[in-house]
Amino acid sequence: MGRVALVSGGTRGIGAAVSIALKAAGYRVAASYHGNDERASQFHEATGIPVFKWDVSDYDACVAGVAAVEKQLGPVEILVNNAGIARDNMFHRMTPQQWNEVIGTNLTGLFNMTHPIWPGMRERGFGRVISISSINGQKGQLGQANYAAAKAGDLGFTKALALEGASRNITVNAICPGYTETDMVKAIPSQVLEEKILPHIPVGRLGKPEEIARCVVFLASDDAGFITGSTLTANGGQYMAG
Ligand code: NDP
Repeated sequence: MGRVALVSGGTRGIGAAVSIALKAAGYRVAASYHGNDERASQFHEATGIPVFKWDVSDYDACVAGVAAVEKQLGPVEILVNNAGIARDNMFHRMTPQQWNEVIGTNLTGLFNMTHPIWPGMRERGFGRVISISSINGQKGQLGQANYAAAKAGDLGFTKALALEGASRNITVNAICPGYTETDMVKAIPSQVLEEKILPHIPVGRLGKPEEIARCVVFLASDDAGFITGSTLTANGGQYMAG
């Protein structure tokens, strides 16, 4: 039987593509989501992948949610921290709520999701933690002080945890996608997309969720056992971090 993989925010966008790709690669996959029941049930009907609803910014909910997943599928060996939100605003207009929601989901969410799973990975001597950060955590983006801070924090989290997991055969890596065709990017006005974003992407197009999913499948595989603490950028050449 395949290893158990849990994908947060795994019911739509990049997360849905990750869930589907991991299932196709032989993993037993659980997908979590937050509030969009309709999309989650459509996803479940289309894929057969079990879905679980909780808020990654709520620690107790993560403990209970992980326990429910493990009861149904067994111990989680692959964790994909994908759930994320944007609450963009120029900093002088950014509210404490916009700041806190994004930090709570996109940064604290990684602590909340990883912490209940980590002791089991240590005990079993195997684990893969793969977090979806962002190009904007690497290079910054106006209107996204909250999002860029959280996504940059995800990279620090990844490197620190990689050191702690190394002796237990747990790898911890991050992926920084560039602009990718999902609901999050569909929310950007088309004029901004065409005039301000696409001209800066050397390959001349947005990424596809499936392209990010293939990066996850690779990092989850045994072939990637020597890769830990790394950041895999997949952004069409838009930003080449050193
Ligand atoms: P989408 O908005 O398409 O999907 C987000 C998913 O995360 C949904 O399943 C959503 O659940 C879930 N989610 C959101 N908040 C919570 C929460 N508090 N608790 C649990 N689940 C939650 O996002 P994308 O697919 O575009 O993005 C996925 C990840 O990739 C994010 O971390 C994002 O920051 C990152 N990213 C995206 C890029 C892009 O261009 N799209 C570029 C770089 C990084 P529900 O359906 O219930 O709302």
